[in-house]
Amino acid sequence: MSSSKKRDYYEVLGVSKDASQNDIKLAYRRLAKELHPDMNKTDPKAKEKFIELQEAYEVLNDPDKRKNYDRFGFSGVEIDMSDFFRGGIPGIDELFRSIFGEFSPFGGFDDFGFSGFGSRARRRTAPRREVGQDIEDFLEISFEEAMFGVKKDVPIERYTPCDACEGTGAEDPSSITNCPECQGTGRIRKMTQSGFGTIIRESECYACNGTGKVIKKKCKMCNGKKVVPDHKTIHVNIPPGIENGVHLKVQGAGHVPSVNAIPGDLYLGIKIKENEKFIRRGYDLYTPIDLDIITAILGGKIKVPTLDYKEKKMTEKELTIPPGTQPGTEFRIKKSGATYLRGKERGDHYVIVNIKVPEKISDRQKELLLKFRELNK
Ligand SMILES: [Zn+2]
Ligand SMILES: [Zn+2]
Repeated sequence: MSSSKKRDYYEVLGVSKDASQNDIKLAYRRLAKELHPDMNKTDPKAKEKFIELQEAYEVLNDPDKRKNYDRFGFSGVEIDMSDFFRGGIPGIDELFRSIFGEFSPFGGFDDFGFSGFGSRARRRTAPRREVGQDIEDFLEISFEEAMFGVKKDVPIERYTPCDACEGTGAEDPSSITNCPECQGTGRIRKMTQSGFGTIIRESECYACNGTGKVIKKKCKMCNGKKVVPDHKTIHVNIPPGIENGVHLKVQGAGHVPSVNAIPGDLYLGIKIKENEKFIRRGYDLYTPIDLDIITAILGGKIKVPTLDYKEKKMTEKELTIPPGTQPGTEFRIKKSGATYLRGKERGDHYVIVNIKVPEKISDRQKELLLKFRELNK
């Protein structure tokens, strides 16, 4: 970066230091779209901003580099971006295909590889199958659903190849012809005169978008678009203990741009409604309760909200308060917290005592308390 002060990589990606690798990928995806120079043609600093983002992602997406960066800062990671986009910054589609598209359709999120964008890296690979765009959506669930797990039907709208034309966009095969503008090559050469002589510039054909084909008679079902909207219901199994803000990936539930394409994926952001009785920290739950001062002094039994994992519902449990209980005392209800996402362990549930002092008392109560004070001396 030419600017004097380098921005912290986490800040560039807008994620916290403890962000998961998944969060980093999603933040990058979002920002790459937002900051891509194609989208910011009037901003003279667009390229610089985009390279800053790319550099931050290069480091934080690599667990080893990230560890070094966390420990030693910029000096812990040696990264030279000056040569990175030598072949030019790829278009968004190409960029996303190279970063998010190069993975086995059977692999998980972590299998996403990152390959550089040098022109060599781009030309090396054989023609790939088209990859559909991902769908991002969110799903709001209740606190109980998050604690006990739930199965949800999520309606999505995606596009899939048109059945009527088998995804060609043409009314019949004979109405697809070679593009007259580029003679079916998909590329157009333009010659311009300059002080240095003739410059030949080749670019994608505007008439056929580089496909080399044009459709004379469009399919009536999809109006030549090749795809049609597809309303679908996805069954999502939400595991117990899921955290707010987690993105569930549903492989293959995204858009399908053509018959042979690899479908995109669905990323479902989980939003958990707050519950006034429970505060979650990690896998533990906390419930503040108001305890009247007399029960705090004398001891007694109170009812506290808790989770019943057998019945899978919220319930109340009797808690014995020992005499002389102090403000801030924590009572632990073992293994009544949130379920670990890996394994079957569970966190604990802490009930935290807040002692409530009555604001108004009767004359008789006052009299007795004065007597109490006397005795206490
Ligand atoms: Zn053409
Ligand atoms: Zn069609």
